[in-house]
Amino acid sequence: EQATHMRVRIGGIDDDSYAVFLDDVSEQRRFEEVRRDFVTNVSHELKTPSGAIALLAETIGDASDDPEAVRYFAGRIMKESERLSQLVHHLIDLQHVQDMSAIQVTQRVDALAAVREAIALDATQAQAKSIAVQLTADRRVLPLDAASEAHGEAGPHAEAFEVLADRESLTTAVRNLVENAIRYSPQHGSVAVTLERAGSVVRIRVVDQGIGIPKEAQQRIFERFYRVDAARSRATGGSGLGLSIAKHGIEEHGGTLGVWSHEGFGSTFTIEMPLAPENAAT
Ligand code: ADP
Repeated sequence: EQATHMRVRIGGIDDDSYAVFLDDVSEQRRFEEVRRDFVTNVSHELKTPSGAIALLAETIGDASDDPEAVRYFAGRIMKESERLSQLVHHLIDLQHVQDMSAIQVTQRVDALAAVREAIALDATQAQAKSIAVQLTADRRVLPLDAASEAHGEAGPHAEAFEVLADRESLTTAVRNLVENAIRYSPQHGSVAVTLERAGSVVRIRVVDQGIGIPKEAQQRIFERFYRVDAARSRATGGSGLGLSIAKHGIEEHGGTLGVWSHEGFGSTFTIEMPLAPENAAT
């Protein structure tokens, strides 16, 4: 259904002869379209919170003799600026995973440590909603911080989950999944993160019992800026980029990211990444 665009080019062969070239520039055109859409989306996403901040600041000015109102509007400004800052961070992450040369899939990374780091980065959001995040590796529940594991029962060997990866992209991917699991779960909900070896891959699952994702939307959630419910997602602070960053980052490592979900019951996101060679053999 995509139109084909040809460009005519005339090139000299020698002093007397010329050749006419027909170049297929459809690919280039499509790329341009995607880029234009992206810029439009980004502008729109930036405009919404910055417009809200301007409006709220103006309102504060008018309400300066009412301390309670000032506190309320200051809080809203804070929320909007957090949204702006998250969007900018997501744009930087997206840039990182799209720049293949920036990704070093040669680092030996302990996936368990990366997962712990990702969970720690989402701790504030989890606390704010009183959501318990449980970490399980090879069916054993582990403490969230490695330090307490060292004092307690011996944990699994770190090499058990060693992958060749760019640590930052792996951590970011898991972090975005955990962040979503928290965002789309009710207060006092629970989120489970599990790691297990399955043949030559490590499988990382992020499981929530939140709102779930309708069947017809499951194909599209990995697209940039796609949201099942734009209004709700914006209200809860999403950028619409988290999953595309995660998918891109994982696929860059030769891994996969998939989803299983049932509306009203919850969602499970599954990452599979090849284990580091010697690690997989043991
Ligand atoms: P957002 O920043 O809006 O969460 P994402 O790219 O991370 O953007 O996710 C895209 C959309 O997929 C979300 O807007 C939401 O509708 C849906 N989604 C992602 N994760 C979950 C989840 N764990 N539970 C329910 N819906 C989810």
